[in-house]
Amino acid sequence: MHKRLIVQKFGGSSVANVERIQNVAKRVVAYRKKGDDLVVVVSALGDTTDELIDLANKINTDPSEREMDMLLSTGEQISVALLAMAIHKLGFEAISFTGAQVGIITDSSHTRARIVKINADRIKKALGEGKIVIVAGFQGVNLDQDITTLGRGGSDLTAVALAKELKADECEIYTDVEGIYTTDPRIEPRARKIDEITYDEMLEMASLGAQVMQARSIEVAKKFNVPIHCRSSFSDKSGTMIIKEVKLMEDVVLSAVTLNRNEAKITICDVPDKPGIAAKIFKELAENGVNVDMIVQNVSHLRQTDISFTISKSEALKAVKLTKKVARSIGTGEILEDEDIARVSIVGVGMKSHPGVAATMFDTLAKNKINIEMISTSDISISCIIKNQSAEKAVRALHEQFGLAKA
Ligand code: ADP
Ligand code: ASP
Ligand code: MG
Repeated sequence: MHKRLIVQKFGGSSVANVERIQNVAKRVVAYRKKGDDLVVVVSALGDTTDELIDLANKINTDPSEREMDMLLSTGEQISVALLAMAIHKLGFEAISFTGAQVGIITDSSHTRARIVKINADRIKKALGEGKIVIVAGFQGVNLDQDITTLGRGGSDLTAVALAKELKADECEIYTDVEGIYTTDPRIEPRARKIDEITYDEMLEMASLGAQVMQARSIEVAKKFNVPIHCRSSFSDKSGTMIIKEVKLMEDVVLSAVTLNRNEAKITICDVPDKPGIAAKIFKELAENGVNVDMIVQNVSHLRQTDISFTISKSEALKAVKLTKKVARSIGTGEILEDEDIARVSIVGVGMKSHPGVAATMFDTLAKNKINIEMISTSDISISCIIKNQSAEKAVRALHEQFGLAKA
């Protein structure tokens, strides 16, 4: 019989303490006993990455990105070693590697590096020697031998990229919920598990804040058609298959409601209403690597207008600085920053063919006395920026209104 090669990824919560690491080891060994070859990708223990970021910020509020990568990559180095030890204790052979050791070569964009290629010889050799291979997620190395990281949630990307490179038979992403749900089950306990979801919908959900899968990992899975099984590390139940096409697509208008609390809003007041101004502002941000998301320019009175846009909270400080600089040069009014916002979105391929979805969304928010500050749409999603304090209420109301809740 064909020997299967399985790539498994265990997230931070799945390896948060000694007992959980031992559980992961048991699961890996159970597969091994069936004769499978295993490449196991692991994230940092529990909240280690957040704690390291906090630590860095206490030392320097604007740390060098190269040093950030040097620091953050240590989290995963701890977990791979501990998992290897736990597997040894069960009497099986395992060997742990950093991203650099297994040839995950990236570009040099520190903290959000892209994988350029993978030289998987070392993994193949270890597998050939009968070892369980354990790889540190979220990290790689650039051509100057500097350690890089792949963006938050990047262990998902490590797993998918390895599954592609090694032509794995399966790619399993183990997490602390039983799969992909119609909304975050921690916000809405009545959220339903989805059995199958397309890359496109999952990508949209991930980009709009569903933390369960990293968006870039889904981009790679889609590009190379790598099926992903997202499931719980605490049970044996099957989870959600993330694939190219699903069987029961008709009649589903919406698949999910998502929430993103990682954005901040910047408003430039009293901007001269003449050609070229917006270009100046957004060019400055782009040239300095700040990613702008939603943009709204309101109706102009007296040849002046307000421009608001959102960026990631982690870039807010930099964005405000840059915006103030341009604002001074073109003579605008105040610059306001608001971090107390949330983006609530609805996602579904079905909305392409069902009119009135946007109206229902706005109406539901209105009925719940939730004010919409900004709106944006794509082919398969609609997002509203609202006050953070109403975020969970909005998620639950939309989930209910669109009939996503468990019967
Ligand atoms: P890991 O540490 O395993 O990588 P993450 O914290 O990155 O786990 O992702 C899992 C979390 O994603 C869940 O605990 C859940 O709260 C959150 N989540 C948000 N939206 C969804 C969704 N639609 N379906 C499932 N989980 C979701
Ligand atoms: N430890 C990294 C993070 O917290 C990578 C991951 O968990 O996937 O973002
Ligand atoms: Mg994650």
